[in-house]
Amino acid sequence: MSDDAATEIVPGWETVIGLEVHAELATATKLFCDAPNQFGGEPNTNIDPVSLGLPGSLPVLNEQAVELAIRVGLALHCRVQRSVFARKNYFYPDMPKDFQISQFDLPINEEGWLELADGRQVGIERAHLEEDTGKSTHVGGGGRIHEAGHSLVDYNRAGVPLIEIVGAPDLRSAEDARAYVSELRSILVAIGASDGKMEEGSMRVDCNVSVRPMGDPELGTRCEVKNINSLRSLGRAIVYESRRQVDLITSGDRVEQQTRHWNEDEGRTHKLRSKEEAYDYRYFPEPDLVPLDPSVEWIESVRSALPMLPRERRHRLADAAGVDTATASLTVERGMDDLAVEALAAGADAGRVLVHIENNLADGSGLLTAAAFASLVAMEVGGDLTATQAKTVLAVLVVDGGEPAEVAAGMGFEAMDDGALEAIVDGLIAEYDEDWAAFTSGDDKERKKKSGFFVGQIMKATNGQADGRAVNELLARRANG
Ligand code: ADP
Ligand code: MG
Repeated sequence: MSDDAATEIVPGWETVIGLEVHAELATATKLFCDAPNQFGGEPNTNIDPVSLGLPGSLPVLNEQAVELAIRVGLALHCRVQRSVFARKNYFYPDMPKDFQISQFDLPINEEGWLELADGRQVGIERAHLEEDTGKSTHVGGGGRIHEAGHSLVDYNRAGVPLIEIVGAPDLRSAEDARAYVSELRSILVAIGASDGKMEEGSMRVDCNVSVRPMGDPELGTRCEVKNINSLRSLGRAIVYESRRQVDLITSGDRVEQQTRHWNEDEGRTHKLRSKEEAYDYRYFPEPDLVPLDPSVEWIESVRSALPMLPRERRHRLADAAGVDTATASLTVERGMDDLAVEALAAGADAGRVLVHIENNLADGSGLLTAAAFASLVAMEVGGDLTATQAKTVLAVLVVDGGEPAEVAAGMGFEAMDDGALEAIVDGLIAEYDEDWAAFTSGDDKERKKKSGFFVGQIMKATNGQADGRAVNELLARRANG
């Protein structure tokens, strides 16, 4: 995507990143049974024979999970297709069947893309359905399995539906990777597919990193980094891995394809294992489930019920405000783009609307209506309120609602009429005649200094009610005439 020198982690080297994101789908029950899908319950309470993999238990596919997976596929512009569940065989104590039901060569969603806030597109290779495992807790030895005295297993999470979204190796920097995960999370939340909470593990990121000399068309050998729990660790892990791999290559070694573990406290990755290959898992079609073949009618009804997606929101606001999508993205992230678009439609100045949202509405828009927002901005642009007064009035509108003109009047922010302002300015010119002489005949530096002095005096004399722009215009007029 980008070969901008500013994104180089090691000069002369390009980092290539592809992310595999697992998101827990926000269903009421698990993927193959009716045990509840709930975070934070007492251990081993949301379980049943299927979650525990008891002999004779059989999977029954959850329709709601399939619908959410289709939503994800459509939101990521994938082809939604007939898919087949497969057994991925490996042993882990928190996976009692000794296999995970996943999708392998025929995933439900394939070949899509998402758009970052700045307009660049990142490929999506596939987004398939699979079941989550349970959770092991290693007791003693600082929580690490090697030093633990014993381990506990909680099967509440076993069988929770996951969508695994495999991104193309299109990312080139830690910032790209973070922007990609943020966008993916916003999409998943917008379509109601997942709550996207990285801190509760409902969204988990595995990060594939390789390096190559800048300009080399071949991809380097990658390592996959696991256990990344925040956007911050994602960035740190990418920088660490890039440097480690470049060091290996430049010292004459080669990168071995590995699965590595991010250690947040040490700020480094450790080798977990040499990369396993698909054939290690002995994939085969799941014999207890039929292929999943959603009808065109179903897919289209899911499509028509999709809400507006973050990308569409950014473009809508960018068009309405005459800015680029990167500039529009903060307002969309804060969920205030409806408010902004409506205020703009009511004629509000785009620059002021976006500045207020960025600087003065970080905690939300509360009871502020689009109409009140538009009138406030109109008063500000028309010189009836200074920028500082507008900010104060805005804070009241957020908490109490109401009309900006009334709130402003209630706070004594009466528009200064021009005559009153002129009288005050003329009084000050007479009172500080030496400063005035320095202002009118001094050099640029002196002029600037004295201009600050007069503006300060005028603000003091008017209790800050004078409009800064009107004051400057008036001072210039008096100086020239
Ligand atoms: P696997 O089945 O081993 O996980 P995939 O081909 O499905 O392998 O790729 C998994 C992830 O690795 C994808 O997100 C992809 O973008 C990423 N990836 C593949 N090759 C590279 C590479 N050379 N450098 C960085 N990331 C890569
Ligand atoms: Mg993989």
